[in-house]
Amino acid sequence: MADGGPDALERLRVAASTCTLCPLAKGRTQVVFGVGAPAADLLFVGEGPGREEDLAGEPFVGRSGRLLDRLMWEEVGLTRAECYIANVVKCRPPQNRDPAPAEIEACRPYLAEQIALIDPAVIVTLGNFATKLQLQTTKGIRELRGQVFERGRAHVVPTYHPAYVLRAGGEAMAEMRADFVRAKRLMTADRP
Ligand code: URA
Repeated sequence: MADGGPDALERLRVAASTCTLCPLAKGRTQVVFGVGAPAADLLFVGEGPGREEDLAGEPFVGRSGRLLDRLMWEEVGLTRAECYIANVVKCRPPQNRDPAPAEIEACRPYLAEQIALIDPAVIVTLGNFATKLQLQTTKGIRELRGQVFERGRAHVVPTYHPAYVLRAGGEAMAEMRADFVRAKRLMTADRP
């Protein structure tokens, strides 16, 4: 395990803030490293910053973020300050396009180090990009959600991206709520 603690996470944030490992560096306003408690038991992983996140320097501050905050509070009983929220890529892809494989690969060590330092009991992957990266699979989120996986010392709970649930509503919202309840239960279960 990494030599952890808030100082190491802060050092990583500072190092990432000037990153030029991929072309996304050119278009960003700032690196959106992550937010929350450095020793959180619950870590959410999204895809990448959008326009609002790029300007604010914080993940999930737009409409998707408001849904994430709401479900986090209603189903887990925690605020974003008590969890940790990070993304697969830390810089905004232009026009909100999908992150490219080379960009995901360049950014991968930052997320891996965040996970090692925070050492969460549960990782909730939001949508296809986070799920495929964390589980190293090509399977889609519809097939994977509803299940629990084990990666290192963490339980991994794949669920939909909140932007998808905002569009799809109804059943997808109920499934995402169920996934959050699953995550809450696993926070007090034995580590893998
Ligand atoms: N969508 C994401 O995947 N991450 C963010 O930070 C914002 C929107």
